[in-house]
Amino acid sequence: MATNKLLLMTFAICRLIVTVGLTVDPTDLLRLGVDGQLSVDPSDLETASLDFGLMTRAKPLAVLHPASAEDVARLVRAAYGSAQGLTVSARGHGHSINGQAQVTNGVVIEMNGSRGRTTAEAAARPRVSESERYVDVWGGELWTEVLKATIEYGLAPKSWTDYLYLTVGGTLSNAGISGQTFNHGKGEILTCSEEKNSELFHAVLGGLGQFGIITRARIDLEPAPQRVRWIRVLYSNFSAFTNDQEFLISLHGLPASQRFDYVEGFVIVDEGLINNWRSSFFSPKNPVKLSSINADGGVLYCLEITKNYDESTAETIDQEIETLLKKLDFIPTSVFTTDLPYVDFLDRVHKAELKLRSKGLWDVPHPWWDQRSSAVMPDEEVFYLVALLRSALESGDETQSLEYLRDQNRQILRFCAKAGIKAKQYLPHYTTQQEWVDHFGDKWDQFHKRKMEFDPRHILATGQLIFTPSF
Ligand code: FAD
Repeated sequence: MATNKLLLMTFAICRLIVTVGLTVDPTDLLRLGVDGQLSVDPSDLETASLDFGLMTRAKPLAVLHPASAEDVARLVRAAYGSAQGLTVSARGHGHSINGQAQVTNGVVIEMNGSRGRTTAEAAARPRVSESERYVDVWGGELWTEVLKATIEYGLAPKSWTDYLYLTVGGTLSNAGISGQTFNHGKGEILTCSEEKNSELFHAVLGGLGQFGIITRARIDLEPAPQRVRWIRVLYSNFSAFTNDQEFLISLHGLPASQRFDYVEGFVIVDEGLINNWRSSFFSPKNPVKLSSINADGGVLYCLEITKNYDESTAETIDQEIETLLKKLDFIPTSVFTTDLPYVDFLDRVHKAELKLRSKGLWDVPHPWWDQRSSAVMPDEEVFYLVALLRSALESGDETQSLEYLRDQNRQILRFCAKAGIKAKQYLPHYTTQQEWVDHFGDKWDQFHKRKMEFDPRHILATGQLIFTPSF
């Protein structure tokens, strides 16, 4: 997917409530006295030991199901005061791939579980302000729940992840607005925004869980479109494909009628992939025979675009799309279209998940390599988000094995480095601090300074392997 800095996934977040590390009198876990549940149940420990990647395992000492932000603060205080040393990691929905939300000598806070959420705060559904167009949510809330709550008012957040079964806090910790300097905060539970405690606000967005735990977020809303026209077109020429993507994102300042609302793309190396989705798309003109396309080395490129509309714009939508498509250089007979409710479009990846689950293909290792920009962005004005979303299968085919796919990922990185192609990883996974220093580049000093300020003992999100706890 081509993107530029203006179009970077910036969730319109106006306010966050964050629990930061704070040095207090020593206490221990047993005297924590939380309102939620502190569990050492083997099944809780097992869940918290794993993540979506299924490649790393680390067993925590206990799992906290918090009832409120105060519970989170209690645990962080206790960890700070612990003489033996205790680390703390928030776990959203555990959709990391390399153990980023795991801890070995500490406590995992299950932000998304409903178990501890017994008090008004953590159990409360997202609170929508219709007049001021925002929604206040618990940090462990899934985007799908946010959507359900806001759509009742005909409103929706302005920007989404492709997949809605991720938590708000986990997503903001990886993607979103990146850093600036911020003011030193010494409260336990802090409210921060662009104006208030702005250093902390900017630090935690894209902060990889290093500076605090997001317990609440306020998200800007806009009127939700009713329907989506979802179009896929094919290319056999890579330059034509990228030229069109870059042209489409360059339209971002124009009125909605003159641009698409969503632009992604993918590479098709296997015809089976197309056959998977083409049955649910309609090809108005001469459905293309894939075998008849003279593909470059057997590879096709698919541009995926959408246009949102509702009753008031339904009459003009066909014309608007036609005008835009005319400016593109795809294979003329390869237009696949479908039309669906906005909510169903947002939920599209979950539908794919259900299909994969039914075939036993979801809970398998995921050596994902996903090069998206978050806090750290490539220097270029226009850059590409490249995602290799593959599953390792035990099929006996060596090219589908975890080791083979991991090795391919490493080869791609080496190739980029050798060819001078600059790359920044989204969901970065490094095992040495020097690699993190290289990853952050110019931002490292600021990142490090913030760490010393907000989590000086380095007890938060140790699964990222950026800092070593100092006990
Ligand atoms: P976890 O994986 O549980 O946690 C990730 C990190 O954030 C950990 O370091 C954890 O300690 C920290 N953290 C979690 N909650 C908090 C909190 N409340 N406060 C502070 N730190 C916290 N990402 C995108 O941006 N866009 C996508 O479209 C997208 N699609 C995806 C689709 C699938 C199927 C999967 C598996 C992942 C996808 N991701 C996507 C990646 C996703 O954003 C990351 O996995 C991210 O970590 C959020 O997932 P999570 O809520 O499960 O967080």
